Amino acid sequence: MSGYKIPFNKPSFTGNEVMYMAHAIQKAHLSGDGSFTHSCQQILQDLLQIPKVLLTTSCTHALEMTALLLDIQPGDEVILPSFTFVSTANAFALRGARPVFIDIRPDTLNLDENQLEALITERTKVVLPVHYAGVGCEMERIMEISRRYQIAVVEDNAHGLFGKYQNQYLGTFGTLATQSFHETKNITCGEGGALLINDPRLIERAEILREKGTNRSRFFRGQVDKYTWVDLGSSYLPSDMLAAYLFAQLENWESIQERRRQIWETYDAELQDWATENGVSTPCIPADVHQAYHMYYLLLPDLTSRTAFIEHMKQAGILSVFHYQPLHLSEMGRKFGGKEGDCPVTEEVSDRLVRLPFYNSLEMNEQELVIDTVTAFHP
Ligand SMILES: *Cc1c(COP(=O)(O)O)cnc(C)c1O
Repeated sequence: MSGYKIPFNKPSFTGNEVMYMAHAIQKAHLSGDGSFTHSCQQILQDLLQIPKVLLTTSCTHALEMTALLLDIQPGDEVILPSFTFVSTANAFALRGARPVFIDIRPDTLNLDENQLEALITERTKVVLPVHYAGVGCEMERIMEISRRYQIAVVEDNAHGLFGKYQNQYLGTFGTLATQSFHETKNITCGEGGALLINDPRLIERAEILREKGTNRSRFFRGQVDKYTWVDLGSSYLPSDMLAAYLFAQLENWESIQERRRQIWETYDAELQDWATENGVSTPCIPADVHQAYHMYYLLLPDLTSRTAFIEHMKQAGILSVFHYQPLHLSEMGRKFGGKEGDCPVTEEVSDRLVRLPFYNSLEMNEQELVIDTVTAFHP
């Protein structure tokens, strides 16, 4: 990212991170499940009002845990948008499942719930809504359909922490949901994630899977007198030093979200006229959605104008970036049968979408420069 006056992202930093990391070192607890891990989990449980949150090493690993927890077997099918990060699919492909790609709505870029039923077969085990840009999917309809067919819902909420749909927090609808604290996300600790467990029956097994398939968590609570290998598992616990960084961020979640709201609304207000005049679309936020202010994107008329736009921004020292390439057209996606035309909206949108610099420490004069540069562009 060096060489740009205004990068695309800078990791969020609120001030107390270094102090808390020093505390973790002084307490001489650097491994997982120390006091900072518990504090972070408690904050999220209290805010979201859910039975259990477990910090993980990444959102990718939290997704892998969901596939294990739901006993995904070879041949099972999972329905997910083609317009998402590779981990949404990979976590299930690792268990031998087949990703079935669903197209997105042209307005919110979230999975098109109207196409869901047609993709369900007797092998379908999971549907994975991704709340793109932190804007909630049509959860009412998705939950209704999945209940009717007895399919689990796992929300990939990497973009959507603290967003709401119909006044309910994203990540609290599905049986399970996953968060990312990667440095590109609103709340970060560099690399990290969380598993949100909304069905209490899955808590104990989740603790086991996360602790290398052992009942170590029960041992530490004095519930068994030795711990042993009881199930599949891996090592999905982040170091308490990273949890210390994360704790500083979670303590300040409201100011982080407020700053992001200001940046988002400034972009949206200042770019509206230019967008209308130039055939560019701006994000659509449905009335019953409170978004998480994860990103600001534009949809240019076509691939040629998007390429020209990115170059135009680069000339001014500003890094703007495109986003997901359709998974169904990737090398792996094609092995699962993906081909051109399967998800036409995804194919079109991925060519046209560009994201603007968006981070908490983006200064007002820097954002003005971004806006002035954008509005000087005519596709
Ligand atoms: C960032 C992201 C992930 C992966 O997060 P990691 O914490 O880097 O594993 C998964 N899904 C979506 C939608 C993401 O944006």
